[in-house]
Amino acid sequence: MSAALRGRAWKLLEMVTTPLLPSDYLDLVSPLRAGADLRGRIEAVHPETGDAATIVIRPGRGWRGHRAGQYVRIGVDVDGVRLWRAYSLTSPAKRQDGRVTITVKAIPDGKVSNHLVRRAKPGTLIQLDQATGDFVLPQATPPKVLYLTAGSGITPVMGMLRDTEFDDVVMVHCAPRPQDVIFRNELHDLVADKKLRLTEVHTDTDGMLDISRLDELVPDWAERETWACGPAGLLDAAEEHWSEHGVQQRLHTERFRPSIVVAGDGGEVTFSATGKTVDADGATPLLDIGEEAGVLMPSGCRMGICFGCITPLKAGAVRDLRTGEITEAEPGVLIQTCVSAAAGPCDIEQ
Ligand SMILES: Cc1cc2nc3c(=O)[nH]c(=O)nc-3n(C[C@H](O)[C@H](O)[C@H](O)COP(=O)(O)OP(=O)(O)OC[C@H]3O[C@@H](n4cnc5c(N)ncnc54)[C@H](O)[C@@H]3O)c2cc1C
Repeated sequence: MSAALRGRAWKLLEMVTTPLLPSDYLDLVSPLRAGADLRGRIEAVHPETGDAATIVIRPGRGWRGHRAGQYVRIGVDVDGVRLWRAYSLTSPAKRQDGRVTITVKAIPDGKVSNHLVRRAKPGTLIQLDQATGDFVLPQATPPKVLYLTAGSGITPVMGMLRDTEFDDVVMVHCAPRPQDVIFRNELHDLVADKKLRLTEVHTDTDGMLDISRLDELVPDWAERETWACGPAGLLDAAEEHWSEHGVQQRLHTERFRPSIVVAGDGGEVTFSATGKTVDADGATPLLDIGEEAGVLMPSGCRMGICFGCITPLKAGAVRDLRTGEITEAEPGVLIQTCVSAAAGPCDIEQ
């Protein structure tokens, strides 16, 4: 069929299907087709530990693939509300069947993580973004590698371990107890195959990892190209330690939450489009304040990197929780609600 004829046929279809669009009907029968908004279908949910599970997703035709270590933003409907979160891809980039996996740890009161770990069912459709992130392996092969991880911070590194083999790889991983170590069997298989040297730190019995213990656990740590992912305390300590030894260029970190350093006085927040006004403290991100108040807020990584949450600031002032910087309302001013808190009364156009 010629393009002109196809165009006329599509116009005719639009008239027939009004008020919906033909694509809305196509979404019902072929939601993963090329040209549709990028979606994925959950095909399986595999429990990993008591509170973590791997979700196998078949991405739609528009999926452009990923590099090991990258993450994907997914949109999940929880109790009728679409919520967006970021998850690292744990499948190797070259997985043959075209599926990808994410591995999610349920956190206390976590809306999306508990939904995915405990309630997600095969067959469910989710929204997907393209993979992104620069926590990836370099093109040139490093002679020695160290992976330093804790808790769910093991996920991007597992994507790397499954994707690329190196001659000399050491991993130090922290989790409360042996049974909390995600991917433990697979890690031990790699150790048995001499593809990995692994130290598990069980924080319930050993206490939190004191970063200076690396001298004893991995004596040549400073010579190793290092990828670290875990809670802020571990990453802050690692960044300081690597800097003190002048090898900070060898350390690559991935954070799941922003480092909140500054809080101040809050104020009354108005969400003018929704017509809601609530009191906010000066430490809670406006994204959380809005969601808590039942306002439909755009969101993304929730840590100030993806700009999926930007919203006009109509009046008042907000504080960037990472830097303390104050932004005042002016025409055209956009704020990242996931890392901004009220700095006095303000009006967010949502
Ligand atoms: C680049 C990137 C990659 C990520 N990869 C993974 C991954 O592979 N696996 C994974 O499980 N998670 C990952 N996360 C974290 C994930 O995006 C969510 O933040 C996490 O699942 C919590 O969402 P929730 O809706 O369950 O919690 P929410 O309902 O948003 O929050 C519930 C409570 O927990 C607190 N909270 C929010 N996030 C965290 C957190 N990460 N740790 C501790 N407390 C938190 C909130 O302040 C709130 O008090 C990643 C985040 C980023 C930015």
